[in-house]
Amino acid sequence: MYELYREKITGACRDSFSLPWIICENVLHMSTWVIAGALIWPVRLSGWPVAAILWALVVVVVQVLLKKHNCSGCYYFGKNCHLGWGRLSAWLFRQDSGSMKTGMRLSLFYILSPPTFLVAAVLVGALLDVGVQHWIFLGLYIVLNLLSFAVRMKGCRLCAMRDVCPGSAARTGSG
Ligand code: SF4
Repeated sequence: MYELYREKITGACRDSFSLPWIICENVLHMSTWVIAGALIWPVRLSGWPVAAILWALVVVVVQVLLKKHNCSGCYYFGKNCHLGWGRLSAWLFRQDSGSMKTGMRLSLFYILSPPTFLVAAVLVGALLDVGVQHWIFLGLYIVLNLLSFAVRMKGCRLCAMRDVCPGSAARTGSG
């Protein structure tokens, strides 16, 4: 485990999360990423939905890099954290094989993408010829993001990493 992570590990935590929890939280995350792609689908170049294709590439690359740079140094490496990614990281990478700073920077993905897509979706809806489904997707995107935040908050409250993880929604205030 990365040194800084080790120093701030929280004793009162759950050591492993159930499979239904892991599946539900992953489905929630993936739904928001897919709907985000649908919201920028109308942005086309020569008929190709270039923005959505670019977004799909960003999701895959950032997610793989996060498993290396964040999850390989995590307390849950090789275990079932609330997203199951500690186990996934152990399948793909060696323990502590990433850079903690890079992992923290990559975590901005979770903070920046919801507001960015909100603004982008409104601009796409205002400037391009979209149907009513665009606004339904936007509503769904907002609801799923709120839901995903609530589930993440629940997971973070039980997580050993809650005081050090850059994406933690439930710090206990120890720094
Ligand atoms: S708690 Fe976070 S950083 Fe740790 S393995 Fe799970 S997703 Fe990765």
